[in-house]
Amino acid sequence: MGENDANITFFKDGLRLDGRRADELRPLKIEVGILARADGSCYIEMGGNKVIAAVYGPREVHPRHLQEVTRAIVRYRYNMASFSVEERKRPGPDRRSYELSKVSREALEPVILTSYFPRSVIDVFVEVLQADAGTRTAGINAASVALADAGIPMKSMISSCAAGKVGGQLVLDPMKEEDNYGEADMPIAMTPDGRITLLQMDGHMTREELKTALDMAMGGCRQVYEVQRKALIDKYNQMEAEIIPDQEQPQEAEVL
Ligand code: UDP
Repeated sequence: MGENDANITFFKDGLRLDGRRADELRPLKIEVGILARADGSCYIEMGGNKVIAAVYGPREVHPRHLQEVTRAIVRYRYNMASFSVEERKRPGPDRRSYELSKVSREALEPVILTSYFPRSVIDVFVEVLQADAGTRTAGINAASVALADAGIPMKSMISSCAAGKVGGQLVLDPMKEEDNYGEADMPIAMTPDGRITLLQMDGHMTREELKTALDMAMGGCRQVYEVQRKALIDKYNQMEAEIIPDQEQPQEAEVL
């Protein structure tokens, strides 16, 4: 962020390096229920990001001293695979992954009805397989879908995306080059009715730019929500079709 000594031209004929308009999201693809052993799971592609989320629980808390008598605790582990980035990442947790796990958990916790499950834990694992900036937002989107897939009662879904500033212009959903060499990056997460549960900013923007960037990011979250919703509906429609197959045609009598 802010290391624009690379002198990158971020726009060509009014379009971004990957051909997007300033207010356009990267292609978004969401699949629900991809892991057989998790209670809920999701695979997401947000541009070049490829991320899996797995949810387990509500289940017994280990170690037991962590349990809360009035509610379930939520644990969120964000992990970046060594092979997910250009320069191999050292395996295991680091300062960044602790921070991202914490802010991502805090982005989701307000909508989870934890009081329904005292003394238990809901575990969310997010594995980044390929990173291209915005992995925390992709992880939160996948985790929200995986929580719904696990049947965890929630007040609403959470959708997330970032807005940034590059070459003096505001852009939605920055990709790697824009994130690395741009002037600002602002990831947010919110409920479909516009309640913000995550707001971070790296870099500098004026007050006016901040307002516009926030509107832009909120618009992005609304688009993400539609894709999350459709992915969940598609999964349950498919399940219904499997359970109640179309009226079978009467079988022809067997000729002996
Ligand atoms: N990145 C990397 N190596 C690292 C951490 C990050 O190459 O150890 C890249 C990766 O593409 C990531 C991007 O830098 O998506 C931006 O990272 P940031 O910390 O801003 O988090 P993110 O935007 O992924 O939520």
